[in-house]
Amino acid sequence: MPNESQRMEKIVSLCKRRGFIFQAGEIYGGLNGVWDYGPLGVELKRNLKDYWWRVMVRERDDVVGLDGAILTHRAALKASGHEDTFSDPMVDCRTCKARLRADQLPDKNGVQQCPNCGGKDLTEARSFNLMLRTHLGASEDESSLAYLRPETAQSIFQQFKNVLDTSRKKLPFGIAQIGKAFRNEINPRNYIFRSREFEQMELEYFCRPEQGAELLEYWKEERLKFYQNIGLPNEKLHVLSVPEADRAFYSKGTYDIEFDFPFGRQELEGVAYRTDYDLAQHQNASGKPLDYFDEETKQRFIPHVIEPSAGVDRTVLALICEAYDEETITDEKGKSETRIVMRFHPRIAPIKVGVFPLLKNNEQLVAKAREVQALLRPHMNVFYDESGAIGRRYRRQDEAGTPFGVTIDFESLGERDDSLLDTVTLRHRDSMQQERVAIRELLARLQHELA
Ligand code: ATP
Repeated sequence: MPNESQRMEKIVSLCKRRGFIFQAGEIYGGLNGVWDYGPLGVELKRNLKDYWWRVMVRERDDVVGLDGAILTHRAALKASGHEDTFSDPMVDCRTCKARLRADQLPDKNGVQQCPNCGGKDLTEARSFNLMLRTHLGASEDESSLAYLRPETAQSIFQQFKNVLDTSRKKLPFGIAQIGKAFRNEINPRNYIFRSREFEQMELEYFCRPEQGAELLEYWKEERLKFYQNIGLPNEKLHVLSVPEADRAFYSKGTYDIEFDFPFGRQELEGVAYRTDYDLAQHQNASGKPLDYFDEETKQRFIPHVIEPSAGVDRTVLALICEAYDEETITDEKGKSETRIVMRFHPRIAPIKVGVFPLLKNNEQLVAKAREVQALLRPHMNVFYDESGAIGRRYRRQDEAGTPFGVTIDFESLGERDDSLLDTVTLRHRDSMQQERVAIRELLARLQHELA
């Protein structure tokens, strides 16, 4: 296996070659820190988001969803503290003019230096606000200023009362959202890990103040289970309890869930106990009540909140890094070759099954393969491929991470043995084992494996 930086290079190159991820604006020289997801990447990302929505919203009685706007009222981000404090410390290198994050500078013998040119002539750190600004309407002045949201959470807090009144939920309950967020990161880096446009999957779980500490532990455990259920191994997942000095002043506890990426251990998700800070801030700034009335105790109070906040793109990167594998295989003739295989969990694999007629110029094989494709297609992402030798077609799907391959051969037509009529070969990506399955059992069999 290659070392970790070679491994990362190979992953980046496979992602481009196979259509997982492309640099945005590539034909114009690229837009730094912005990425486009290709045909395989978009499926992978969608499967991840769908699974999150399934377990966080649909399979629970106590969580409802929201899809808030990206354009955000300036007053909301003033109230939340983002306008004044959502910034990173920045320095300039006077030698090469690079703009750098002051808290991420390498240090040589106690002296901080520029990671680009090694220069030590750096300016004093000053704070740089990460929010992206825009103007609504025709006039470009302070009165029309709005922001592209830096996190999805703030629309959840602003809509708390509307959701409460319409969903008639009782505490504890949560509001979940998946969507784009924007941060003008000083140094986007590590591929899609730190970008300027990204997606978040966030839950704001509201509760009574006395339930907060316990629910923080509960959500940390739930979120760890989630990552295991999409195929990230337990030994590469770590929980960092963020020390009080590094937490937001209002937080009563924060865990970072970290993953061992090829470039080091880094945050996938933060699970934070944010107390009543956000709702109280918006209530004070807007003058509109954002409290909760408990009918049993007749108390009125502002709920506390636990926030598991995950990055879609970071999780996609973790899934890709974990899936990438190379192995040497030897065929029947004793010839060895390297097989590149993306070992995605079937649940999140971009394509679930490849359907292959053994020969493309045999009408009956092609017709039956098309029948199998039509049978499976309403239920899962199917890739039909009739070109090239069957071994080559399998390899292409191995690289795409497709967990199953279905081949329609002469046995499927009942040509050699009547009892094999309408059966196909089912090939398993990881073991490369093949078995014979009746077409009428195929859908149930695959659905079971993909659940
Ligand atoms: P970091 O310290 O890495 O900048 P953060 O602590 O500022 O992250 P949060 O504000 O807690 O991040 O955001 C929640 C999640 O959103 C993060 O755990 C991460 O998965 C994702 N996220 C935040 N910033 C970015 C980014 N620039 N690119 C991709 N994902 C991001």
